[in-house]
Amino acid sequence: MRLTSRLLKLEGRVNLVDFLKLNENEQAKIYKGCINKPKLDDLEQVTKALIEKYQEKKVTLNYYECDTCGGFHLTKSGKRRRRLIKHMILKTLAGGKI
Ligand SMILES: [Zn+2]
Repeated sequence: MRLTSRLLKLEGRVNLVDFLKLNENEQAKIYKGCINKPKLDDLEQVTKALIEKYQEKKVTLNYYECDTCGGFHLTKSGKRRRRLIKHMILKTLAGGKI
């Protein structure tokens, strides 16, 4: 990826000066946990995204609040929590509300 597009991806997620001070491993971790994932701004967006994913692909994801950007991201990890989330999705869909 070209440097300009790499920097554009960082915009709005991290403080660029602080980010560039991190070593390669630390930067890679931030890419994996934040930059490479869509950012959801609030729990309403999280709920919509979780339900859409379930309806489109029958997949239940988990979510976490991100220390890097202050938003939320979806993740496949957390089997137990995903089960609870699935229960909530099914309940929501049964109620006909999102
Ligand atoms: Zn993030």
